[in-house]
Amino acid sequence: SSEEEAAKAAAAVADTGAPTIFDKIIAKEIPSTIVYEDEKVLAFRDISPQAPVHVLVIPKLRDGLTHLGKAEEKHSEILGWLLYAAKVVAEKEGILDGFRVVINSGPTACQSVYHLHLHVLGGRQMKWPPG
Ligand code: 5GP
Repeated sequence: SSEEEAAKAAAAVADTGAPTIFDKIIAKEIPSTIVYEDEKVLAFRDISPQAPVHVLVIPKLRDGLTHLGKAEEKHSEILGWLLYAAKVVAEKEGILDGFRVVINSGPTACQSVYHLHLHVLGGRQMKWPPG
């Protein structure tokens, strides 16, 4: 299935520390639909939505956070702010009654873009466990 293909492709992507497509989104060199922005974070709609609401929340400064597995104590403030921004996005999108926040960290979790990001998903009944 295309789902399996996407998972396989993501599992093959490694954390090289190279710039990612998100740098261009932050720089507004490629277009995105921005839902929320402040000095620290940017939230924009996922190009391949997996739910009626699917927004990515990212730090504007990657600061070594290619994935959550790289988090250090110095990142605690931005990590907290990202989670707070996820709630602000959920509120703006009208899904505060139920939404999901996902972080895929590393190839085994099918991370495909190595710039830390939170997926904010909602607008439909979510299932558990995720795949
Ligand atoms: P990951 O698989 O790393 O957890 O999530 C990366 C997400 O970025 C995927 O859901 C993918 O659809 C999204 N994505 C990849 N490239 C782009 C892009 O150019 N624009 C937007 N808006 N989303 C993207």
